[in-house]
Amino acid sequence: MTYKSKFGFGCMRLPLTDENDPTSVDQDLFNQMVDIYMDKGFNYFDTSYAYHNGTSEVAIRKAVVERYPRESYQICDKMPTWALTSEDDNDRFVNEMLERLGIDYFDVFFIHNINTPWYKLAEKHNTFEYVRKMKENGIARKIGFSFHDNASLLEEVLEKYGDMMDIVQLELNYLDWEDPAIEAHKCYDLCVKHGIDVYVMEPLKGGVIVNPNDEIRNDFKEFNPEKSIASFALRFCASLENVKIVLSGMSKMDDLLDNCDTFENFEPLSGEETEFLEKMAEKLNSSVAVPCSECGYCVDVCPEMIPIPEYFSLYNISTNRPESNIYRLYFDKLADEKVSAEDCTFCGTCVDHCTQHIEIPDELEKVCEHFTEGFSPYAGSP
Ligand code: SF4
Ligand code: SF4
Repeated sequence: MTYKSKFGFGCMRLPLTDENDPTSVDQDLFNQMVDIYMDKGFNYFDTSYAYHNGTSEVAIRKAVVERYPRESYQICDKMPTWALTSEDDNDRFVNEMLERLGIDYFDVFFIHNINTPWYKLAEKHNTFEYVRKMKENGIARKIGFSFHDNASLLEEVLEKYGDMMDIVQLELNYLDWEDPAIEAHKCYDLCVKHGIDVYVMEPLKGGVIVNPNDEIRNDFKEFNPEKSIASFALRFCASLENVKIVLSGMSKMDDLLDNCDTFENFEPLSGEETEFLEKMAEKLNSSVAVPCSECGYCVDVCPEMIPIPEYFSLYNISTNRPESNIYRLYFDKLADEKVSAEDCTFCGTCVDHCTQHIEIPDELEKVCEHFTEGFSPYAGSP
C-alpha cells in the first residue's frame, strides 16, 4: 500500500446547487471532480444510505458506476443502523442501497455509526452476523463499522466482533487525537491491537480545523506558506501506519485539487511538524466554543428539528470575531427560516447521538444568550 492509495473521496458533503437543499447535488460539478480524481489515479468513494438524504448514492451511480468500469473503483456504503426496526430491515436496506448505486457488490460495507444506543440496535437486529454473511456470500468484499464513541465501548465491540471485522472507520484528527471525549489515540491503538485496519473520517473535524481564527491562520502561514492548513491535517492521519484510507468530504473543486496534490506528493509528517500541530491543537481547542463537527446526526433525532450544527457554526464564528454583529443577523435569519434555537425543550434525545459528546441543550442555551445579549447594534461589519 502506498500513501497515495490512502486518499478517499468522502461523499457526505457533495457540491450543491441549492445550499438549503441537501438533495440538490450539483451533478455536473461532481462528475468533473470525479473525473479529475480518477484521472490522477485515486479510486475510493465513501457514501451511506443517509448522506444527502439518499442522493449521495444516486450521484455516485451517475458519476462513477455509469461512467467507469466496475473494477476501476471501490465503493463503501453503510447500513443505517438507527433506522433498523426488524431483522428483515438488514436485507431491505442492503437491496435498496445496491439498487441506488447500480452495483451488485460493495467493496466495503460498514454498520454505520456504532455508539452506545445504536450498538444495542445493531445487536438486537443481528446486524453484525448479517454483515458477516454478506462477506461470506460475496455481497461485500470487506466489512466493518464506523464508530462514534469512547475507547471502552470500542474495546467491548472488538472483543465480541473483532474477529469477523476487517476495518473500523474512526473519527481521527490532530485535534481529537488526545481529546478525552473522543479518545482517538486510544481507539486507534485498540484497532492496532486487534489487527484491524483503520479508515479515517473527519480528518478536518467537519471544517473546524481549516477555519481557525486569524492568529492560528497566521501561525500556519509563518510555519510553511506553501502548504494549506488542510494538507497538514490529512498528512497527520495518513502518516499513521495502520491508517489505510483517509476520507475527505469535498464540496469545492479547489479542495479536491489541493487534496490531490497532498497525496500525489505525499510526505509523512516530520517530528518538527508533529510538534507544531500539537501546539496548533492546543490553540484551536481553546478557541472553538463548541467542538461540533457538523455531522448532523443530532438533527435527525431532534423532535423540534432544530438545525443544531448551523447554530453552533454561527456561534463559533461569532465568538472568534466578537467585533462583528453580522452573525447576529444570520442567527435571526436562520431562526426565521427554520426553527429557533430557543425552541429546544431540553428533552435530551440528541445528547446520546452526538458524535462529539456535546451537551447540546446546554450549549444551545449559551448560543441563545450570546446572540441575544452579546451584541451591539453599532458593531462594525466583518
Ligand atoms: S434537547 Fe433540544 S436540541 Fe436536543 S433533541 Fe431535544 S429539543 Fe432537540
Ligand atoms: S452537535 Fe454533535 S451530533 Fe450534532 S452536528 Fe454537531 S457534532 Fe454532530
